[in-house]
Amino acid sequence: MEILIVGGGIAGSALALALRAHDLPVRLVEARPEGSDTEGAFLTLAPNGVNALRALGHGDVPAAAGGFELSGLDFHNASGRRIARLSGEDDAARYGARAVVLRRAALRTELARRAREAGVRFDTGARLTGLAEHGDGVRAAFADGTTIDADVVIGADGIWSAVRRHTWPDAPLPTYTGIVDCGGWTKVDLPDSARQQMIFGRRGFFGYAVKDNLAYWFTNVPRATEPARSELDDLDQTRWMSTLRDLYDGDPAPVPRILAATQRAVGVWPLYDLPSPRTWCTERVCLVGDAAHAVSPSTGQGASLAIEDAVVLARCLRDEQAPAAAFTSYQRLRKGRAEKIARFGRQVGERKASSATGSLFRDLTLSLFLRMGARATAEQYGYRVDGSPSGGRRD
Ligand SMILES: Cc1cc2nc3c(=O)[nH]c(=O)nc-3n(C[C@H](O)[C@H](O)[C@H](O)COP(=O)(O)OP(=O)(O)OC[C@H]3O[C@@H](n4cnc5c(N)ncnc54)[C@H](O)[C@@H]3O)c2cc1C
Repeated sequence: MEILIVGGGIAGSALALALRAHDLPVRLVEARPEGSDTEGAFLTLAPNGVNALRALGHGDVPAAAGGFELSGLDFHNASGRRIARLSGEDDAARYGARAVVLRRAALRTELARRAREAGVRFDTGARLTGLAEHGDGVRAAFADGTTIDADVVIGADGIWSAVRRHTWPDAPLPTYTGIVDCGGWTKVDLPDSARQQMIFGRRGFFGYAVKDNLAYWFTNVPRATEPARSELDDLDQTRWMSTLRDLYDGDPAPVPRILAATQRAVGVWPLYDLPSPRTWCTERVCLVGDAAHAVSPSTGQGASLAIEDAVVLARCLRDEQAPAAAFTSYQRLRKGRAEKIARFGRQVGERKASSATGSLFRDLTLSLFLRMGARATAEQYGYRVDGSPSGGRRD
């Protein structure tokens, strides 16, 4: 069986590795040119993501990609008062792993490198522009005019998935959430903080953790209108950073200090919500990662879910005779979990958007919300991909 994966991000590379571990033949095509994967700031891989990497046989990826562990979250209001705390001290005992902060490009590059090493043909600069399913296979067409024939195609091509668009032309598109995310890393003279600090500032939400004199920071800034692509491509960093400094002026230390020390943000990303597609698969095409379920970054779960998907789908393809049956099993094992986390992410996003308004109410109810959130977190972190014969646990 020829399996073609479209997209060499976290989901695609992890899936390629998982398929090779079962000796299944796989080819991967990625739109970015070779060596251009330097984008993105950093992300937090949750304990379930670390465990999914272990199940993949690559539990050492976070360390190899330069990650560092977190031991919880502290939430502060705009006056600097700590209003809630999520302990991660016992995550290692409870879930077998702690959350890890990683540079996104380092994680993607490490997974891609290992996929190649495992024998995956990994073509870069190949942008999918068309997909046609026929009786005995799928033909994928690319921007350079070439085509590839495969028995099945897996769309691991992210939130704006071309595979999804060509397979289900009427599927709903992502919608802008009214929040712009921005972040980077900045040299600062601050002690290491193994706990991530989250601040509901007066006009925006700010998070940071410090490791080896580098502050890894991000902000969620409410903005009613969706930024145009051209605005992001030609971002005036000086103006953008000056806007951020104004926005957080007067917010608790060390937020203004981190922003003052920052010359440029690593990136600016409008955040989108992907309405849950009715289905993730046909007989020969299937979606993984953000292409299937782009959960909000506020959950800190997108990358972890992508790796879980990869492990479960590869096991289903190993265990079932026909790809259609494998896809159905995979969807049954994974869709409920992803949709639940997506709903949770929308609730968290609403809390963040309330940074500018209703802050007293928010301060009073945040602890309660976090207690409810702690139950969701336990479910998210406690998941094991090898909980059932096919490799996933049903929700
Ligand atoms: C600002 C921000 C912060 C985040 N923070 C976190 C976090 O802290 N923790 C967490 O777990 N998750 C976080 N996420 C989510 C996480 O980044 C995603 O869930 C994860 O990257 C999904 O991986 P993926 O492989 O499915 O998609 P992607 O990483 O988007 O990879 C898709 C790949 O497909 C390629 N591609 C696209 N179109 C085509 C095409 N037509 N042909 C060929 N290739 C194509 C792309 O070039 C890309 O390499 C965050 C997301 C954002 C936007």
